Amino acid sequence: MSAVLMDGKALAERIKETLRERVDGMTIKPGLTVILAGEDPASKVYVRNKERACETVGIRSRVIRLPDAVSQEELLAHIDAANRDEAVHGILVQLPLPRHIDGAVVLKAIDPKKDVDGFHVENAGALLSGAPGIAPCTPSGIMELLKDSGVPLEGAHAVVVGRSNIVGKPVALLLLQANCTVTLCHSKTRDLAAVTRQADILVAAVGRPRFITRDMVKNGAAVVDVGVNRCADGSLCGDVDFEQVREVAGRITPVPGGVGPMTIAMLMANTLRAAEG
Ligand code: NAP
Repeated sequence: MSAVLMDGKALAERIKETLRERVDGMTIKPGLTVILAGEDPASKVYVRNKERACETVGIRSRVIRLPDAVSQEELLAHIDAANRDEAVHGILVQLPLPRHIDGAVVLKAIDPKKDVDGFHVENAGALLSGAPGIAPCTPSGIMELLKDSGVPLEGAHAVVVGRSNIVGKPVALLLLQANCTVTLCHSKTRDLAAVTRQADILVAAVGRPRFITRDMVKNGAAVVDVGVNRCADGSLCGDVDFEQVREVAGRITPVPGGVGPMTIAMLMANTLRAAEG
């Protein structure tokens, strides 16, 4: 058996097309400010992809590029200016930040209404309590992909491996909202494979190349691979051993072309929603 692909690239294109139509009908075009501090090569690629998506959708984007040695005060001053600028509807600070900068302070400085990454504590709290707010892009993208692929959610056992604030925890909350029974695993989980083998839906957000192997996956499970890793041979690979796991899974996301494009599509959707008020 070979799993059906959950094609995030194709779905992201469809979503962006719909968003483009909505933007076409707006007199005031949405504006997104992206702040990139430092020289991280992966971050530069992510930011370029976000700029390209903005062009496709018709969102005005501005990237503020700051040197690695930028002071926290200067970074906060840029956020403050974007918070007060009425033409800016969304603000995104590309992570990771240089080591000397306190990420929690920076994220908290963003106006929660413009926090299109959904990382502000106010939006995190809204997600936890089920109140209206902006949900983080990668977890929202995962949910859209599961729904579009027709994966049954209600009553399904969803196992999430990884408990970061940007992926693991929020996707666990969204799966719970969708009436899944959720298990959240991490590096201290005992007998991880025994837990993941129970999953109808398995989300891997670990950051370790090909960490999820065939023996960890139940026959027919929907497997979502969030990981973006550099493998020993320099190629890009996920947290799931794709070639092995596709033989047992019912559905699977590829890397690249799975969760990554969906994250960007959700960023566009969040920016549009922020502009619409
Ligand atoms: P992170 O902050 O490093 O978190 C990794 C999580 O994995 C932690 O909760 C950690 O557990 C857990 N973990 C590590 N080793 C483990 C093990 N042996 N067994 C079980 N759990 C283990 O990573 P992240 O920011 O969530 O990102 C995860 C991956 O997704 C990375 O590859 C990242 O590049 C990728 N990513 C992709 C997108 C996208 O759009 N495609 C977006 C964001 C992130 P502890 O908490 O116990 O340490």
